[in-house]
Amino acid sequence: MKCKICKEKAIIKLKRHNIKLCKEHFNDFFLKQVDRAIKEFKMFKKEEKVMVCVSGGKDSLVLWYVLKKLGYNTVGMYVNLGISEYSENSKKKVLKFAKLFDLEYKIVDLVELGYPVPKIAKESRRAECSVCGVIKRYYFNKVAYDEGFDVVATGHNLDDEASRLLGNILHWNDEYLKKQVPVLPAEGKMLKKKVKPLIRLTEKEIASYAFLNKIDYLIEECPLSKGATSLVYKDALNLIEENIVGTKQFFYFQYVKKLQKELEHSQNKIGSLKECKICGMESFNDICSFCRLVRNEEQ
Ligand code: SF4
Ligand SMILES: [Zn+2]
Ligand SMILES: [Zn+2]
Repeated sequence: MKCKICKEKAIIKLKRHNIKLCKEHFNDFFLKQVDRAIKEFKMFKKEEKVMVCVSGGKDSLVLWYVLKKLGYNTVGMYVNLGISEYSENSKKKVLKFAKLFDLEYKIVDLVELGYPVPKIAKESRRAECSVCGVIKRYYFNKVAYDEGFDVVATGHNLDDEASRLLGNILHWNDEYLKKQVPVLPAEGKMLKKKVKPLIRLTEKEIASYAFLNKIDYLIEECPLSKGATSLVYKDALNLIEENIVGTKQFFYFQYVKKLQKELEHSQNKIGSLKECKICGMESFNDICSFCRLVRNEEQ
């Protein structure tokens, strides 16, 4: 197996692009895919301050590493979710990574704040992942606003977004479908722009990049992710991809291309932002979802 570019020994075969590449040219390919997504979807510019949400897993650490390599102005943001040993281990990976590459970071500790995910889920009798989503979103926005970031970047990849799209279509979750784009514009003055620079790369490609570049990430998955339906959608798409190469990419990007404008139009009708009466963050309601959640009020 030879590299398509230099004819040296190839180490990876990218079926959906129909190419084989050596380590050097795979690394080039990877950086180009991230750079292309940033430019194509107008995610951010070199002078802007990017907050990278890091969990210690491969996607977020690879994202942080690559953005730094491409010369972007980044700061990592880690939320300690208070999920037993998993959170301890993920925090260690993030700190070790930041130290190794001399990167700046921020930490929000939900245990210190009194909002660990398992506790709030129990008190509110809601699913852990939904509680986790509300709390993370809240602190991503809050820290980004308080610290003057221009944009919030997450490590979502093509598999994450295509499987989420499949799940949302299967259940016709119109509200979620509107948000399934690589860039969510800022809303008001506090809710910052959200971007997904790894959107052109698959889970396998990211894992290969992490391995080849010796990025030490946490392999262990969050124990609360067991039985998540998103894994079923990922498996289903992988099965289709195995048989019909390129489907995953086509499915997601055609959706973005064809429906984005139409959905953006209806998104503008959501309503206007107010300041939450408790914490002062912007929200579409008098009390934001985070404050309602931690005060255990009806959602
Ligand atoms: S699996 Fe659920 S609880 Fe665990 S980090 Fe992900 S969203 Fe949070
Ligand atoms: Zn090569
Ligand atoms: Zn609030």
